[in-house]
Amino acid sequence: MAKASSNDGGESYSGHCLCGAVHYRVTGPLEDPHICHCGMCRRQSGHFVAAAAAKRADFAMTGEDHLSWFDSSDFARRGFCRHCGSILFWDDGSEWVGINMGSLDQPTKLRLERHIFVEDKADYYDIDDDLPRFRGLDQPVT
Ligand SMILES: [Zn+2]
Ligand SMILES: [Zn+2]
Repeated sequence: MAKASSNDGGESYSGHCLCGAVHYRVTGPLEDPHICHCGMCRRQSGHFVAAAAAKRADFAMTGEDHLSWFDSSDFARRGFCRHCGSILFWDDGSEWVGINMGSLDQPTKLRLERHIFVEDKADYYDIDDDLPRFRGLDQPVT
């Protein structure tokens, strides 16, 4: 899901859902900021999803009892606030937790790095930037 990272850069991030019931903090880098065009992200979010990956060891949440998980596949679940509906997390049980970037407090000082699942893009928009594009997670589109 993301490349290896070191945790000595002093980065930290915070974020929360729209109603504020669920807060989180990441005390370490956020890796691989990307846009996912897959059909599941589109249906859950209403468009596409911008997400980045935090090391699970760097991740802490408050208000977890307000979070609901939806098992969107046989290997991953999606966390959202059961009060306001904000979609926050993607969790495949690995050492990484996916964080939806719209929930991050500003400034993030991050930049999007790539598009994934571009083959699943909907027909009502175009990808019109110069970021690298991938089929699925990691097959480059040339
Ligand atoms: Zn909420
Ligand atoms: Zn997706």
